[in-house]
Amino acid sequence: MEYRRLGKSGLQVSELSFGSWVTFGNQVDVDSAVEIMKAAYDGGVNFFDNAETYAHGQSEQVMGAALKKLNFPRDSYIVSSKVMFGSEKEPKPTQKGLSRKHVYEAAHQAMQRLGVDYLDLYFCHRPDPNVPIEETVRAMTELIWQGKVLYWGTSEWSAQQIMEAYSAARQYNLIPPTMEQPEYNMFHRERFEVEYKRLYEQVGLGTTIWSPLASGVLTGKYNDGIPADSRANVPGYEWLKSRLTSPEGQQRIEKVRKLTRVAKDLGTTMPRLAIAWTLKNPNVSTVILGASRLSQLVENLKALEAVPMLTEDVMMKIEEILDNKPKQMASQ
Ligand code: NDP
Repeated sequence: MEYRRLGKSGLQVSELSFGSWVTFGNQVDVDSAVEIMKAAYDGGVNFFDNAETYAHGQSEQVMGAALKKLNFPRDSYIVSSKVMFGSEKEPKPTQKGLSRKHVYEAAHQAMQRLGVDYLDLYFCHRPDPNVPIEETVRAMTELIWQGKVLYWGTSEWSAQQIMEAYSAARQYNLIPPTMEQPEYNMFHRERFEVEYKRLYEQVGLGTTIWSPLASGVLTGKYNDGIPADSRANVPGYEWLKSRLTSPEGQQRIEKVRKLTRVAKDLGTTMPRLAIAWTLKNPNVSTVILGASRLSQLVENLKALEAVPMLTEDVMMKIEEILDNKPKQMASQ
């Protein structure tokens, strides 16, 4: 495992990290979480991602219970939470969003559930149109000054919104966001590769990318239909099933079939190829892996072995199959 700087900050984050999304608390119990997190940590992973909304707070609780059992030295790992959607099934107006009140209270709840005295990373899970950006920047800065958060960031904010946060921080002598958590994978490229380009260069934005496997599509597991044990068959995941069966989904699966042959020719597997492809982008600080079971994590960690296989020629071949390279803006 190699470690990359989180943007221009001094924080060293493992290039592969682990996120618990809805799996912890819904499908994964504390003992299984212990197994998965131990395998990740032993493989060099130092960052565990979470959010208040995952499994309505249960994901943080399960991760917290697992961290307690695992007893890793606190200074050897990074743990995050995200605020915006609330953890209640039907949050009241003050129980969600990016107001100073909810940002503050959600951080305290996350620390309590995760069993930590501070959050290493704390993200605004989405922009909140009902709260001035300056209010959120101020709340994040104060949490940092109080030692309750070490670095704050955004998730799926536009480049313009991130720049607004920067401007507010500069104007009022507050702390700007260090990182953004965007979706980035072979099928979802535009924002990461084009929209944020100036932010990497001008403000040194770090990135903790999500869904490197496009929710599993890029593993090749759907090449011959939907397997019975897939998330696509779990109630609540109807979006995944309809995404797979739509004409666009079918076109993507056709591309994955071709990419699977490329992986095979290289002597690797499709999930490893797809994850390694994201690691080739130097603007990625860390790739957050998702896994519904231990065997998937073990497989996905082996993506590190596939990175050197992605020579220029192979990358070109992949580009031809994907046929979705985003156009750079005229001035870039
Ligand atoms: P992926 O795109 O990697 O999808 C993970 C899913 O793909 C698994 O749950 C599993 O689904 C399937 N899978 C993974 N590895 C394999 C394998 N080797 N073989 C077969 N199937 C596999 O990532 P996620 O979408 O889960 O995102 C990763 C993390 O990113 C999350 O846990 C979360 O922390 C973060 N995230 C952040 C978001 C944000 O808005 N900031 C949004 C979404 C995620 P199955 O159940 O079908 O087996």
